[in-house]
Amino acid sequence: MSIGDNYHKIEEDIPDYVAIVLAAKTRTPQEIEEAIEAGATNIGANYVQEAEKIHNALGEKAKKVLWHMIGHLQKNKVNKALPIFDVIQTVDSLRLAEAISKRAGKVCPVYIEINSGREPQKSGVMPEDVEELIRQISHLENVKIEGLMTMGPRFGNPEDARPFFKETKKLFDYIKGLDLPNVKMEMLSMGMSNAYKVAIEEGSTMIRPGSIVFGERPQ
Ligand SMILES: *Cc1c(COP(=O)(O)O)cnc(C)c1O
Repeated sequence: MSIGDNYHKIEEDIPDYVAIVLAAKTRTPQEIEEAIEAGATNIGANYVQEAEKIHNALGEKAKKVLWHMIGHLQKNKVNKALPIFDVIQTVDSLRLAEAISKRAGKVCPVYIEINSGREPQKSGVMPEDVEELIRQISHLENVKIEGLMTMGPRFGNPEDARPFFKETKKLFDYIKGLDLPNVKMEMLSMGMSNAYKVAIEEGSTMIRPGSIVFGERPQ
């Protein structure tokens, strides 16, 4: 099946309220263009430099879609990231949020990345620290929190990911209930190729498939 066919198949498979952010790491501009032609409206990138290259290669076509930063963003890359990305899904520290706010020049939508698996080597804020972080970030002028994002540990069996999605959804509802000024809990970004169905069952409103659309990544 083609990239377009794969994309349409997922679209048909999920409820209308769920958005698709296509995870495009390692893909060529041609592959990404094919997905955009098929109707993809949100593209996710893991690295600033990779996104920059694709942007340049796509030219005007890059403007037809929204670009999401879904990889860890280093503070020293914020300047380069801001002109490319419409949403930064991976804010996990006050310092990063401050760097974005200081340089953005306009309000930048961000999601807070949750380390739902509490894996020390991974990025994302620990679930128990989310509320405090969000309260702090909510005071920044040019950052607007619009949701949460999580990866969760990688499992062969998607069922094993369920508790981590469940916990992130619980946090999402809790933060939403706080009704903090300048915080809009609208998007819950979770679910990659192997577990997007489970993620949606647990409340995801935005899935991030990659390999199921583009094919397996070369090792
Ligand atoms: C690679 C990646 C994905 C997509 O993973 P697949 O298994 O290819 O679907 C989604 N989100 C993030 C943050 C990623 O790095």
